[in-house]
Amino acid sequence: KVKNIVNYFISNETIEKEHIIQILSLNKHDKDREELFKVANLIRKEYTGDYINIKGVIEFSNYCKKNCYYCGLRAKNPIIQRYRMTPDEIIEVANQAAILGLDTIILQSGEDDKYTDDDLIYLIREIRKKTSLPVSLSIGERSFSSYRKFRKAGAVRVLLKHETINKKIFKNIHPEKSYDNRIELLRYMNTLGYVTGSGNIIGLPGQTLEDIAEDILFMRNENLRMIGMGPFIPTENTPLKDHPRGSGELTLNAYCATRFCIPKAQIPTTTALGTISPDLQYQGFYAGCNVIMVNITPEVYRKNYNIYDNKIKVEFYETYEKIKQLGFSPSKITQKRMEEKKNACNIRL
Ligand code: SAM
Ligand code: SF4
Repeated sequence: KVKNIVNYFISNETIEKEHIIQILSLNKHDKDREELFKVANLIRKEYTGDYINIKGVIEFSNYCKKNCYYCGLRAKNPIIQRYRMTPDEIIEVANQAAILGLDTIILQSGEDDKYTDDDLIYLIREIRKKTSLPVSLSIGERSFSSYRKFRKAGAVRVLLKHETINKKIFKNIHPEKSYDNRIELLRYMNTLGYVTGSGNIIGLPGQTLEDIAEDILFMRNENLRMIGMGPFIPTENTPLKDHPRGSGELTLNAYCATRFCIPKAQIPTTTALGTISPDLQYQGFYAGCNVIMVNITPEVYRKNYNIYDNKIKVEFYETYEKIKQLGFSPSKITQKRMEEKKNACNIRL
């Protein structure tokens, strides 16, 4: 099995649906799996440079007008304590993140129209001006013209997960979202020159391995360059609260298959996987992931950004040390900032 998949990859720089399903089907104790993960890791090194990117997420608002069945931020969740960070707070956190050594600022929120396009444009411009770091948006669906304006203001990356390419499952769990609009929006973002990211949730009701393979193929065919895939985590006060959580091992298989299928992709090992077990999240690096997102939302707000229950906090310093301890290298900009800090400490001493 391994030989076939690797040979096919060597000739085509990608793999096909049958191979993806074979990888997804691998068992934790399967010898083949270890071998394939090793190759995925080599592909990561060869196609993305031998660095792990540490990106900082600022969860600036947990208000949302939508009601996705799986998400704790859904408008109809009465229990959650809502917050909005002010623009000044957001810019200050972004500043601190740049000093820390993060290499991208991700602005994430529920779908919150209280932040107008102009507010977001102001934020993007100020963060770019003050930190020079790339700004990535993960704010859900806005109009095509809004995303055009954000791009013009300096946002370079955008994340909008398609969640599942299976239309029936998508409709069952998204009462207000339009499947076609979301896909059109992703295509439009690509034409605007964004580095466009999408992804799925693993373990949705009715989802099969073939559906997950179709998700990966969709992202390859649409030229999507950041691929976020996390296991479903059940959450109180949501319609899917009793649905079992997605498999962490299957999520690792999906990372490996994606690395074979889209070799140059930015693939984060996700917080949702870390919420099942931090060890599993670190194993993501061995399965082909090259990104991890750390949480830089101030504590007073973070505890209420309850997308799913028991969401862990991924911390910068701990993550940085762990990456090095595991034998991987953080990106050059992160290493440079850490060196500067170390030197400043030595001078003071
Ligand atoms: N509101 C924006 C959107 O929907 O695109 C961005 C923020 S949203 C909280 C970010 C992602 O969280 C979603 O794309 C979804 O995949 C993920 N998510 C939400 N609830 C989840 C759950 N219970 N388990 C796993 N992932 C979840
Ligand atoms: Fe809102 Fe996004 Fe959660 Fe859906 S996934 S309820 S759009 S925050």
